[in-house]
Amino acid sequence: MKEMDIFNDAQQEIARKIKPESNISNWKDWKWQLKNSVKSIDTFELLTGIKFPEEQKSQLKTTLDRFPLSITPYYLSLIDTDNYENDPVFKQSFANVNELTVLKTDMEDPLSEDTDSPVEGITHRYPDRVLFHVSNVCSMYCRHCTRKRKVGDIDSIPSKEQLKEGIEYIKNTPQVRDVLLSGGDPLMLPDSYLDWLLSEITAIPHVEVVRLGTRMPVVLPYRITEDLIKVLKKYQPLWINTHFNHPREITASSREALAMLADAGFPLGNQSVLLAEVNDCPRVMKKLVHKLVQNRVRPYYMYQCDLSEGLAHFRTPVGKGIEIMESLIGHTSGFAVPTYVIDAPGGGGKIPIMPTYIISWSTNKVVLRNYEGIITTYQEPESYESKFCDRNCEECNLDLNLDEEPDEVEKSIGIEKLLADYDNTISLIPDNNERHNRRENGDGR
Ligand SMILES: *Cc1c(COP(=O)(O)O)cnc(C)c1O
Repeated sequence: MKEMDIFNDAQQEIARKIKPESNISNWKDWKWQLKNSVKSIDTFELLTGIKFPEEQKSQLKTTLDRFPLSITPYYLSLIDTDNYENDPVFKQSFANVNELTVLKTDMEDPLSEDTDSPVEGITHRYPDRVLFHVSNVCSMYCRHCTRKRKVGDIDSIPSKEQLKEGIEYIKNTPQVRDVLLSGGDPLMLPDSYLDWLLSEITAIPHVEVVRLGTRMPVVLPYRITEDLIKVLKKYQPLWINTHFNHPREITASSREALAMLADAGFPLGNQSVLLAEVNDCPRVMKKLVHKLVQNRVRPYYMYQCDLSEGLAHFRTPVGKGIEIMESLIGHTSGFAVPTYVIDAPGGGGKIPIMPTYIISWSTNKVVLRNYEGIITTYQEPESYESKFCDRNCEECNLDLNLDEEPDEVEKSIGIEKLLADYDNTISLIPDNNERHNRRENGDGR
């Protein structure tokens, strides 16, 4: 396996093939990396020395016509060219003819991000937070992108006018306390543009935290510069989530980028996608989460692969994810264990999935099993008095006692509402429930 150092032999060779006089400062210049991103099969072959058979090459070209290619020289340098067909970096970055296979159950926009969008660029799904697509570009096009429909579509950065619409929406929506900058990759925006954007968003009084989702530490760690940190630091609390999928992606360069971010005080998280033949293995995942926490990155989510078109070859059964969770929970540090989620098709949001730990229940005992398979009981309290909650916090014994304006009491939704004392809803009935529709139609059955 290749030595993963900054400007190692493989990287020097790639750099010199790009331009003979290239040196380490070119290599570490993120703009140089972007300018020299690999977008064609011929360049890929030239830089890696890999040669595809002619027939495969023409199929690959058809794939690229539909889903374009872009790989930073840095990320390309991590490919093990001697064993590229099994290489997790290769599989995530290089086209596969299977991408053209679209199943009947695949969807263009499986998470209904475009439908749950009040204004261009904003997806408002959950009550108190929004996703803000602030860039249409990425430095590397992940083959497993959930927004594959859009990749390479409008290779641009939205204008200030466009972004102002999103900012205006957030301003006018006081329940939004958390703004998640996504894209594309928000760090494709120039520093000064980010500075402007973050200053606008953080100036909104009801915005308490901003999050930034970026794959730069993985695919272009040199984007994390002192200048960038200087800009971002002005806008704490800023939570940064990145997207490592395989332990091989953690290199000297990415470690340095993560250290710069952690030293600057940003809480760091990681969102992985469970991908067939890339990381669908308990050992690979355990190694990954261990490397992440060593680098001060908290594994946040492990996603079940979405139903986007062209991803069928990447999907695993849900059971694989549960098997991985089974191998992590209890077996390793709690903070190294991500939450495994399925992002509900149709836009229901993220649904956590876990092995089953509650085995049975009586009126005063819960029977549980642990990670070792030990079956145990938890004796519930005999004297817990359930208090009626009418949401009148002023009268409640539990004293929040904060020196600030009390929050407005928000109304409950969903299952929370069914559990609430102060709400009389007894069931949630789907719109298309036939029995109920019959009642409404008054046919008396
Ligand atoms: C994932 C996501 C969020 C953030 O969800 P968290 O569980 O708070 O991380 C917000 N909005 C949309 C549309 C999302 O997909």
